[in-house]
Order: sequence, then C-alpha cells, then structure tokens
Amino acid sequence: MIISLVRLPIDGLRFEHRYSEGELDPGDRDYILTEQPLVSGRIDKAGTGVRLRGEISALMVRPCDRCLADVTLPLEARLDLLYVPADPSGGRSGEIEIQEQDLGISVFQNDEIDLDELVLEQLELSNPLQLLCREDCRGLCPQCGVDRNFEPCDCKPPIDPRWEGLASFGSSDENG
Ligand SMILES: [Zn+2]
Ligand SMILES: [Zn+2]
Repeated sequence: MIISLVRLPIDGLRFEHRYSEGELDPGDRDYILTEQPLVSGRIDKAGTGVRLRGEISALMVRPCDRCLADVTLPLEARLDLLYVPADPSGGRSGEIEIQEQDLGISVFQNDEIDLDELVLEQLELSNPLQLLCREDCRGLCPQCGVDRNFEPCDCKPPIDPRWEGLASFGSSDENG
C-alpha cells in the first residue's frame, strides 16, 4: 500500500491497513505469513519530512533449522520513524546522509511512503538468522530421518573416511 503525503493534514494523517492474502509479496523469503500484517498509526509533518508512528502485528511461520517443525514467529512492534525527502531542497543532502546512517532515517520519494517496504523490513527484523523450535532441539537423524525429539534411533554417526586418516594428527587447527 502506498500512502500519499500530498495534502498531508496539518494535524496529521491516520492510517490503518490489514493486508489481504497475497497482497504482500515476500519474494523468496524463508517464512510464510499465517496472519497477514496489520499496520496502523499516524503520519505528521516533521521539518522537510514526516514522522510515522504506529504499530504493526503479524504472524510468520518458518521451519526449525534442525527438525523442520513449524515455528511461529510473532511480530509485534511499535514504529517511530523519520522520513526525509529523497531530494531535499536547500542542499543539505550531506547532512541528511550522515543522519540517515546514525539514526536509521528512511527516505521517501514522490511524496509517498511505500508501506509494503516498511512492513517487509519489519518482518525481516523479527526473523532471526538461526531459528530453533527450542534451544535443545535434537533435529532429524541424518541417516534414518526420524525426528530425534520424539523418537530415538540406534544410528551410529558415520565416520567420514577423510577424517580417519587425520584423526591421528589431533584437532590442532580446525578453526584456522
Ligand atoms: Zn527443532
Ligand atoms: Zn537414525
């Protein structure tokens, strides 16, 4: 969804949007949305830009890195963001660039804010690099494939033939 900043009311603009299924395209991201994002808040003028305050909620599901069981990732966040125009008048672009790095200021173009972009970014922020269903997840057995959280198996870890010869040298510099 695009929010137009043209004729932004002097006392701010309120918005609320519940995404419908398929409206947001997460591309090749590694999660699926089980509850579509709900985003609401207000936009006020702030200097040459605008300030967006509000909240966002959604539910994502992603498989556990070890056992592939579905893990639900709730997104529940407050938003307080400053947007500055992409081409600020007055030649202050250098200053803006520094602020942008320091404070996480976003940039808008053509007097509009792309809410989809913001939502995808927030989803990504609450999507951890490593995801386990629980800290001590035992994962799937690489040999027989059972979920070792539920079912023990008698598989012995295979000995990689490449390591057999190296074993006698000890484990000196595996970490480089
Ligand atoms: Zn797991
Ligand atoms: Zn096994």
